[in-house]
Amino acid sequence: MASIDTELPSSLTPDTREKLLAIFELAPIGIGIVDFEGRTVMSNEVLRRMLGYTRDEFARMSFDQFTHPEDIAANLDHFDRLIAGEIDSFQMEKRFLRKDGAIVWGHLTSSLLRDAEGRPEFAIGMLQDITEQKLLTERLGTVQERYRSLVERVPGVVYVAEVGAAGRWHYVSPQSESMLGFTAEEWLADPHLWLRQLHPDDRENVSEDGAIQKRMEQGEAISHCYRMISKDGRTVWIRDDAVLVRSEEHGPLWHGLLVDVTREKDLEMRLEHQAFHDPLTVLPNRRLFRDRVEHCLERLARCSDETAAVLFVDLDNFKAVNDGLGHAHGDELLVLAGERIKRCLRSGDTAARLGGDEFALLIENVTDVHDVTTLAERILEVLSGEPYSVGNRSVMIGASIGIALRSPKDSVEVLLRNADLAMYRAKGLGKGRYAVYESNMHESTVERLRMEEALRETIEHHQRGTAGGGQGLSVVFQPIVDLETSETEGFEALCRWEHPAFGQVGPDRFIALAEDAGLIGELGAWVLNEACATLAAWRKAGGSKTSLSVNVSPRQLEDGGFPEIVCRALKDSELDPEDLIIEVTEGVLLVDASRDALRSLRDIGVKIAIDDFGTGYSSLGYLREFPSDFLKIDRSFVQHIQNGVEDRSFVQAIVKLAASLAIDVIVEGIETTEQLEALRAIGCRIGQGYLLARPAGLPTRSTVSVQA
Ligand code: C2E
Ligand code: CA
Ligand code: CA
Repeated sequence: MASIDTELPSSLTPDTREKLLAIFELAPIGIGIVDFEGRTVMSNEVLRRMLGYTRDEFARMSFDQFTHPEDIAANLDHFDRLIAGEIDSFQMEKRFLRKDGAIVWGHLTSSLLRDAEGRPEFAIGMLQDITEQKLLTERLGTVQERYRSLVERVPGVVYVAEVGAAGRWHYVSPQSESMLGFTAEEWLADPHLWLRQLHPDDRENVSEDGAIQKRMEQGEAISHCYRMISKDGRTVWIRDDAVLVRSEEHGPLWHGLLVDVTREKDLEMRLEHQAFHDPLTVLPNRRLFRDRVEHCLERLARCSDETAAVLFVDLDNFKAVNDGLGHAHGDELLVLAGERIKRCLRSGDTAARLGGDEFALLIENVTDVHDVTTLAERILEVLSGEPYSVGNRSVMIGASIGIALRSPKDSVEVLLRNADLAMYRAKGLGKGRYAVYESNMHESTVERLRMEEALRETIEHHQRGTAGGGQGLSVVFQPIVDLETSETEGFEALCRWEHPAFGQVGPDRFIALAEDAGLIGELGAWVLNEACATLAAWRKAGGSKTSLSVNVSPRQLEDGGFPEIVCRALKDSELDPEDLIIEVTEGVLLVDASRDALRSLRDIGVKIAIDDFGTGYSSLGYLREFPSDFLKIDRSFVQHIQNGVEDRSFVQAIVKLAASLAIDVIVEGIETTEQLEALRAIGCRIGQGYLLARPAGLPTRSTVSVQA
């Protein structure tokens, strides 16, 4: 086999030949001379170092043996065409396999060497190691790929767009399709798409005004929140963060990120709703109500030919229902009551729940007080006209309403306070009604506080036995009479209070006052002791054996310890338990603790009367469940008994029901002989009333000791 060094032109001097070989050997590039079998018959130092083979190894190997398998085919193809003389040279990038197995990337330039006659003889290959470069571009490719995948995978849409509402979009990442339904192609093709899909209400907010433009030109990022309408019509909340980036070619461009913040927005709106609404009834809460009143007052300050009213609506005796039915059912009732109230209002008015069983209404555009009082009447009617069905019971509940009309200088506080005062007045007048605020009500609250203080003092004096002078608390007795024989069966003890400053205060007023002030326990205990002692003394002095009825407030029963108070009073006075009748209103039967107290009293022989029957819950189920001894029919039914068919049939029905339950009926408030006759005709056996006897001191006991 010829070697190239023997093929060098023979005309060369040995010295020149030497030099040429040295240049070949020491060239800073890999050089190989390859024969047509593919063997590298000559290799220089760089090539040997590059691929790790010795001169001899090269001479024995075909180049395909150190070519990466994937590059062999292309290489052979070029090589064949070269030696066939079809081409003079070729270049390719290919991978070589080094002797140690490593891959070397090379840029190969190969050309044909011809003999003296011009026949193809060898191929000469020059090889540049480009491994480093290759790795670098590969790495760059990876980095680029990583960025691309990042951009396409961030949970948002990355975009590049021209400035201006109808600026062209240069890039939109493919997430735009899942976010808004439009593909990247659709965005790029239609410069008006963004503006068209922007929610109409947000168009003004996001238009690029001059100031924004300026800030952005200084490189500040701009963040916007707005709504877009997706292709399928959904409203999507978008947060758009963008910076202006200058480009040679297009001028400033937006580089931005659109993120779908619909869920956050929904949550935010829900939280905001929560902050301003009562979670139970979903009505506005106190905060929002105040806001509305404030805005309304601001508006009224500008326009004076109308006014506004605030109504406080408070449910009567809600506590008893809540305790009796359980809080869950109490809540249900509040929701139902809220709905009923709302139904009475016009769309511009506000109904709010201030807390507990207290609702507030703001009525705007009022021109006549009458409109407001008519509304109050309607609300009372709607609230208490029909029973509520909660749990599987049906419950009646009343309400009291306070009305305050705005006067020109009223602040929000004043207006709300006035409505509150009026509501207390309505309660004080006996509940179930409305009251319109009058300027003297404020004074009456102060008076109320003074009266409360006075009552507290009076009770303390009585407890210590230091009361006197014909003033203070006393107990009077109203006979309970057999309607056939006119004989006195018993007495109802009724409390009286006389005060040097306030004069005679009726129990309708001071009992409620004592209940609110937490004094009813002491007051009730005092009445019980006083009544028992008085009756016992009266009997000792020759009075007949009659029963004693004592009124007891719900609160006294709830507090626990009441049965012991009764036992002590009976023991001290030496009355038989059978002689004592405890009068309670129906409401207490709803409360577990109160029923327990009544039951333990009944166990020792004390009798129970249900007072004011027919005015409260009239939950007959409770009457059946709870054994009582007497039903006292409220005097409101007696008032019209001789001409009202309804009242007569009600009383008749109660008498029948009571008979079937072995309960005695006592009729209250008999004032005329007609009433007495009518009641007798129905079959009522026992009664009470001014016609028969007014409340007074017991016949033989001196008034001094009775009315201390
Ligand atoms: P009540 O238990 O229904 O007592 C009957 C009330 O009706 C008494 O009013 C009595 O004077 C009045 N009355 C009796 N007959 C007639 C009549 O023919 N016509 C009219 N119009 N009224 C009649 P009074 O004494 O003003 O008591 C009012 C309420 O105050 C009582 O209603 C009772 O609920 C409460 N009360 C009175 N004393 C006490 C007490 O010591 N403790 C408690 N917790 N409540 C009491
Ligand atoms: Ca009574
Ligand atoms: Ca009564």
